[in-house]
Amino acid sequence: MHQGIVGKMLTNYSNPIKYTFLISDTELIINKFINNPITLRWIGEVQCICGKRFSKFYRQNFCYQCYWNAPEASQSIFKPELCTADLGIEERDLEWETKFQLRPHYVYLANSSGLKVGITSKHNELTRWMDQGAVQGILIAEVPNRRLAGLIEVELKKVISDRTNFRKMLSGPPVQLDMVREKLNCLNHIPDNLQKFIIPDNTITQIEYPVLLYPKKVNSVNFKKSNTIQGSLLGMKGQYLLLDQDRVFNVRAHQGYILELLI
Ligand SMILES: [Zn+2]
Repeated sequence: MHQGIVGKMLTNYSNPIKYTFLISDTELIINKFINNPITLRWIGEVQCICGKRFSKFYRQNFCYQCYWNAPEASQSIFKPELCTADLGIEERDLEWETKFQLRPHYVYLANSSGLKVGITSKHNELTRWMDQGAVQGILIAEVPNRRLAGLIEVELKKVISDRTNFRKMLSGPPVQLDMVREKLNCLNHIPDNLQKFIIPDNTITQIEYPVLLYPKKVNSVNFKKSNTIQGSLLGMKGQYLLLDQDRVFNVRAHQGYILELLI
């Protein structure tokens, strides 16, 4: 039995993806446990990024203090176009924001539950696609900071979704798309002054997930009804564990939960 604070699962790009479950300092490669029993038991406490423990989070995976004050929970995290570090303007913590925002970013298209647009820092694109459960990804533009990526995304969101429908993503692999054609279609929606950031390379990344059986009707489970979730592990996709009886468990949504894991 392992006990500790749950983190986002680590993903290694291979065919299929190799998943590592993080529970405090323990790293468990869980692909080998597919088709085996798994038990997750919540001890009734969560730990925020500030290190304090609570009986529950205030919002998302933050305590009240962090939700309203920490740079990790600021508005520009969810709306990158509102980033201001490159303009020298502090939102919550200019030093943190400078490090986080002033580095090259990509704008991409991915096929998760269908076509979506998104942004991520350079070199993080594979991790981002794997976390979203995407089966295809292609880069559109490389910009020097997060705000510019946000500005391109705002324009592309007018014609392409920026969301993943998790039920659809988890119910099976989506139809393969002609990603190069989708990319070429969206390029003329990028404003003239940002056209120079378009990436000419059209490499498509294909991603496969270790899934034995997809749920027929996705039933998302958490610890609201019971502190124990028990079942057979049928695979991983995105940041979800797929369990028997059509159940799915969002690991990322439980980041900071203190769990006992029996596998
Ligand atoms: Zn906190």
